[in-house]
Amino acid sequence: MNSTRIDWCDATWNPVTGCLHGCPYCYARGIARRFGGWDYSSGHVRGNASADKTFICLTSETFRSWRCKVYLSNGQKIAELENAYIVERGNKTIKAPYPFGFVPTFHRYRLREPEATKTPKTVFVGSMTDLFGDWVPDEWIQEVFAACAAAPQHRYLFLTKNPERYVMMGELGLLPEHKNFWYGTTVTDDEAPLFWSELHNTFLSIEPILAPFIGSVRNKADWVIIGAETGNRKGKVIPRREWIDNIVANCREAGIPVFMKESLRGLMGSEFVQEYPWERTE
Ligand code: SF4
Repeated sequence: MNSTRIDWCDATWNPVTGCLHGCPYCYARGIARRFGGWDYSSGHVRGNASADKTFICLTSETFRSWRCKVYLSNGQKIAELENAYIVERGNKTIKAPYPFGFVPTFHRYRLREPEATKTPKTVFVGSMTDLFGDWVPDEWIQEVFAACAAAPQHRYLFLTKNPERYVMMGELGLLPEHKNFWYGTTVTDDEAPLFWSELHNTFLSIEPILAPFIGSVRNKADWVIIGAETGNRKGKVIPRREWIDNIVANCREAGIPVFMKESLRGLMGSEFVQEYPWERTE
């Protein structure tokens, strides 16, 4: 697990990285490209020579890694790593964090990290991915859930742009109802689908807010996070004050705590709030 500058959690944990949604404002893609997509032609790759997994590659690319599998899921290339991809460069030994760049990758060797971290934390699971994307195998999600359940000292925040997957898993009885599991949906406009359930903790992450929200349907959540687009992207949307006021008014009416990201502090002035729902529900 890593410390983070994301202000609504204490830590991020990325047993899965990479995403295929293609959001134009994606920060994770840039990070993965900057620190990943390793130059496989140089450096020395180490690994477990007695690997029990066969290296399979269904693409024309060749990855020199031990205990690694690359295959197709829903027609999309995904990868699994059983152990960290370690590269030696000069005197340095480096664990490559994104050896396949932004290709969805399961870092199975990271599954014990929550258990190994004894101090309770609020953990954003999958800040570098969408764990519930259509291309993610059920087994990956279930292994992540199991790792979370094995470390109940933490609070886990999941977040997706594909809330239908929550619904599908819920219908199959595969979406845990643990009090310390929070299922979030990212929405950037008023038309996007969301997940709400009486059996689960849910939240909305309206980030970056790209348009006004007028629907009272947004009342269906246990927590609402709002944030503006940051960075220098061409076409960046600057939110209007009344967009935020309207959401806050909706939430106040429904008794929903609101968390504004730092990106809204200047816009909101004395009305800037950062509220958490934990005390009410856990
Ligand atoms: S869902 Fe998140 S990780 Fe995936 S492309 Fe969009 S911003 Fe990036």
